[in-house]
Amino acid sequence: MAVVKLDKIVKRYGNSGPTVVENVDLTVGDGEFMVLLGPSGCGKSTTLRMIAGLETISGGTLSIDGRVVNDVPAKDRDIAMVFQSYALYPHMSVAENLAFGLRRRSFSNAEIDRRVSDVAGILGLAPLLARKPSALSGGQRQRVALGRAMVREPQVFLFDEPLSNLDAALRVNTRSEIIKQHNRLGSTMIYVTHDQVEAMTMGTRICVMNAGKVAQIGAPLDVYWQPANTFVARFLGSPPMNLMEATLTSGDNRARSAAVDAPLSRWTDTTLQSYTGRKVTLGVRAEDMMIDPAAMEGQPFGTVKGRTVAVEPLGAETLLLVELEGGSEITARLPRHVIAAPEQAVELFFRADAAYLFDADTGEAVAPKGTGSAAVRAAVQRRAH
Ligand code: ADP
Ligand code: MG
Repeated sequence: MAVVKLDKIVKRYGNSGPTVVENVDLTVGDGEFMVLLGPSGCGKSTTLRMIAGLETISGGTLSIDGRVVNDVPAKDRDIAMVFQSYALYPHMSVAENLAFGLRRRSFSNAEIDRRVSDVAGILGLAPLLARKPSALSGGQRQRVALGRAMVREPQVFLFDEPLSNLDAALRVNTRSEIIKQHNRLGSTMIYVTHDQVEAMTMGTRICVMNAGKVAQIGAPLDVYWQPANTFVARFLGSPPMNLMEATLTSGDNRARSAAVDAPLSRWTDTTLQSYTGRKVTLGVRAEDMMIDPAAMEGQPFGTVKGRTVAVEPLGAETLLLVELEGGSEITARLPRHVIAAPEQAVELFFRADAAYLFDADTGEAVAPKGTGSAAVRAAVQRRAH
């Protein structure tokens, strides 16, 4: 059992320094794989290091299984951490690297041998135990670093961008290795990354952070389908969600600008009432922008008009960059057979149920009629037809 609970956790460096982590509330359930996701500098590592006990906590309460550990030293927290730069001891063999932490903690030789051979078996390191790190590939070294954490049999594993130094193919392999180990061990894991693909594929839940604060917490697809604000909408998804300034017109509940005209049928009249006549931000994902009106299949749809500025054929798909009147730019992710040229007038179409709406002042999402995981799944189903 290991539930990690952050209650209004704050970090300030120095007395008058800036607050780099601000009132973070997060409960990581027993056996959960929680991903902290956000851009560089948003406070992910600082948060993780406070959980590990490597950094003091300036405010709030950190507890593990109900025990407050704010002032418990790192070595007494039953937590193991895997870093991005997994410095193995170069003069020691793999077996010695794995055993080192346990020797320092004065485990018996028999216990150390048992743990090292167990972990070496699980991670496929048994044939490599006598080698020095210099004779290992990057992926093998990363597995030794993971093994070094695993031999401690901790209650909680922390990972700080452990795959950033690996090349693309190895990253995918090691990613599935970590997921496999999580399924096998069932331990609580907290994993920091700035990579949205890692977050989407690994996390049971994602905690998106922005400028030291929690922007949204949820299951990967819930966060993708129901972003709580424009920051999350743009951070998850590649290319990022298109955001377009518009005004909510009275009487017909449409979002309009010189370039855009969209029916807002996902929202109730009551919800829209308070926005009537005001500026709103309309969001549409690049993959929901279509060039063929037949794709609307008789469903209500919105339109956006502009000029093509660039065409990027990626092979499997073609990205079309379109400049709208007023100068903002949007991206459509179109089928690979679409042929387009730059500097042409173009009209794009999107189904009304693909539209998102945000408060133009706060950036917060305006909640549509159906929310929650069940509604999301239903919407995905509907959209698939
Ligand atoms: P991330 O891991 O999300 O990239 P960090 O947690 O490393 O971000 O850093 C968050 C913020 O805290 C950054 O603005 C960074 O410059 C600042 N910071 C990190 N470590 C220190 C430190 N030892 N002293 C002062 N500021 C720091
Ligand atoms: Mg970091």
